[in-house]
Amino acid sequence: MQGKIALEEHFAIPDTLMDSAGFVPESYWPELKSRLMDIQERRIAEMDRHGIETMILSLNAPAVQAIPETARADEIARRANDYLAEQVAKRPSRFQAFAALPMQDPELAIAELDRCVTTLGFRGALVNGFSQIVGAAAPAYYDLPQYWPFWAKVEELGVPFYLHPRNPLPEASRIYDGHPWLLGPTWAFGQETAVHALRLIGSGLFDAYPKLQIVLGHMGEGLPYSMWRIDHRNGWVKAPAKHKAKRKIRDYFNSNFHLTTSGNFRTQTLIDAILEIGADRILFSVDWPFENVDHAADWFDAASISETDRLKIGRGNAAKLFRLDPPGAAQDFNQAAE
Ligand code: MN
Repeated sequence: MQGKIALEEHFAIPDTLMDSAGFVPESYWPELKSRLMDIQERRIAEMDRHGIETMILSLNAPAVQAIPETARADEIARRANDYLAEQVAKRPSRFQAFAALPMQDPELAIAELDRCVTTLGFRGALVNGFSQIVGAAAPAYYDLPQYWPFWAKVEELGVPFYLHPRNPLPEASRIYDGHPWLLGPTWAFGQETAVHALRLIGSGLFDAYPKLQIVLGHMGEGLPYSMWRIDHRNGWVKAPAKHKAKRKIRDYFNSNFHLTTSGNFRTQTLIDAILEIGADRILFSVDWPFENVDHAADWFDAASISETDRLKIGRGNAAKLFRLDPPGAAQDFNQAAE
């Protein structure tokens, strides 16, 4: 399929590059490093070769979220966002941007999101899970009350928020002791991010800000597969749910979340996601440079789904959610793709 839009696609700046070391064997690091530091050359060639018209770019992980000093977190976020804005300006039809945000301080995060969206034209934010804060007893998850003014701003700006994975801190990783292979994309990323998403839902955040749209990668971090059970455990016990949210968890999942295919190129899993959340809320993505563009595109272009769904997931849903097409353009594209 030509004209695809992909939106979990990362780059690094020198300050954050080393955050990505260790996720591949040392012999692969030179390759990963060069992929992360490139925007205009190898990346464009990969996109051209595999039918990706536009990538919405974001900083690597955990980056800003793992800088406990608030002023430094803010400085790195601004530096990364300024660099990204320059890169996007070179090829605005091929690249768009997600803001990195210093969530250590909700006021600074609000200011930087506002600057990125209203001044730099960014399409939303991508945040790498919880934030570490100097002197804080615990990692900051964004369902906490101090973040609700931030969410009010996200809703007011009308931009999606991509909740991207990071590993749990060592003190919260006892279950992985002796099994480091379970950290990262194998399992811990999904576990960490799924629980964070459920915290957001259960807190009642979406009752207060019903227009918020959260994007989850990796086909929903396992949530579609568990969605029924989350709401129906011990179905014979007639007791009210213990969360603060007013409706069933599934109701929020189906109206406040979008999922991407990043790093999870499996038709069985895609079909389960379609059955839970619907094809209108699933978006094609790669997770470049941690995954290969050809692995994502070759799988997606041939996946056994309807052509209508392929056009929506490959392009139409993202074009609409991020307002990437001028009115009428998506329709022209669909006709051209026949
Ligand atoms: Mn990623």
